[in-house]
Amino acid sequence: MEQLHFITNLLNLKDLNITLIDCLDQGTHKELLAKLDYQPPQCPACAGKMAKYDFQKASKIPYLEVAGFKTLIKLKKRRFKCKDCGKMRVAETDLVKKNHQIPVILNQKIAQKLIEKLSMTAIAEQLSVSTSTVIRKLKEFQFKTDLNFLPALMSWDEFSFKKGKMSFVAQDFESGNLLAILDGRTQATIRNHFLCYHRKIRERVQIITMDMFSPYYDIAKKLFPNARIVLDRFHIVQHLSRAMNRLRIQIMNQFERKSLEYRTVKRYWQLILQDSRKLSDKRFYRPTFRMHLTNREIVQKLLSYSEELKHHYELYQLLLFHFQEKQPDEFFGLIQEALPSALPLFQTVFRTFIKDRDKIVNALELPYSNAKLEATNNLIKVIKRNAFGFRNFDNFRTRIFIALNIKKEKTNLVLSRC
Ligand SMILES: [Zn+2]
Repeated sequence: MEQLHFITNLLNLKDLNITLIDCLDQGTHKELLAKLDYQPPQCPACAGKMAKYDFQKASKIPYLEVAGFKTLIKLKKRRFKCKDCGKMRVAETDLVKKNHQIPVILNQKIAQKLIEKLSMTAIAEQLSVSTSTVIRKLKEFQFKTDLNFLPALMSWDEFSFKKGKMSFVAQDFESGNLLAILDGRTQATIRNHFLCYHRKIRERVQIITMDMFSPYYDIAKKLFPNARIVLDRFHIVQHLSRAMNRLRIQIMNQFERKSLEYRTVKRYWQLILQDSRKLSDKRFYRPTFRMHLTNREIVQKLLSYSEELKHHYELYQLLLFHFQEKQPDEFFGLIQEALPSALPLFQTVFRTFIKDRDKIVNALELPYSNAKLEATNNLIKVIKRNAFGFRNFDNFRTRIFIALNIKKEKTNLVLSRC
């Protein structure tokens, strides 16, 4: 008896009415035979006296692994019969909730694993339960939107849920908590979501950071009258360097394929895009040129091939300089001045910049960016990749909320939700 009690302790079987009878080795898994029995309770129907009757056919309860083996508890439950009205009743245990087949402890384990970045099928496999059990657990997590709160600083971005289907995501800039994940990114979707907040709450928002995606500007202005839009610095620079790179390719294609010009402009593309202040002065042997050159000297050679390349390279580098030194007046002064003589590729970018001038100036003057939300977005991608077959957007969203908003809190809190 002592020994068995010790085992029930080890298995965390807290119900003292459960007695272990045997443990069978089934090769692939262990089977614990157990009995649930206690003194007859009062009849729930007539409050009369009940008596012990027989045992129910053993119910199979999947349990946590024991010593590395999948484990199944075969629990025989006592049946009671009322002496007065004849009603039957099955013994109850807190091991498994009434009308449930999964032990409470296993449910807690599922909740824990949902926080980790595991696919739902992997969780089901590890705990020997069905995927639908895991999904049912997932659905128990409810994330209510607090309509009385919006942060002063907010970040907006998007990610793709399925091929060609974009979703909208908003994050509290300071706490990093997710505020919204929306199934779609249309103006209507975003408006419907944020209009749930009272105007007074929306007026508290001071800053919204976002990357370059103009359809968001209008809706942001309308919904958040006091908010200033801050474009992400990284994306602004990316815009510029993309134009520079396209221009490099255009010029490269004017040369013969086998010429030195073509081959070197192709090969050293990164040096052209790189901040010229950071070009290395170390000299190495360069097989393409058949001589020893520093990176800076290579750039000089490339620029000597084309006046247009040289002109735009210098313009690009100067813009980068003003941008990194946070000099908006010089940055836009240069753009205005260069616009008429620039190649169409650059003109397009310049016009976009002029149109979004205030948002770019904000980016240069304020210390906010979309970097934190980009990190969140990477996590979302990991979840998406690991959770093959999220056909249902709601389940996907819940999983993201669990992974991102709960992770920061204590696991205890999650367990208390069960
Ligand atoms: Zn009765």
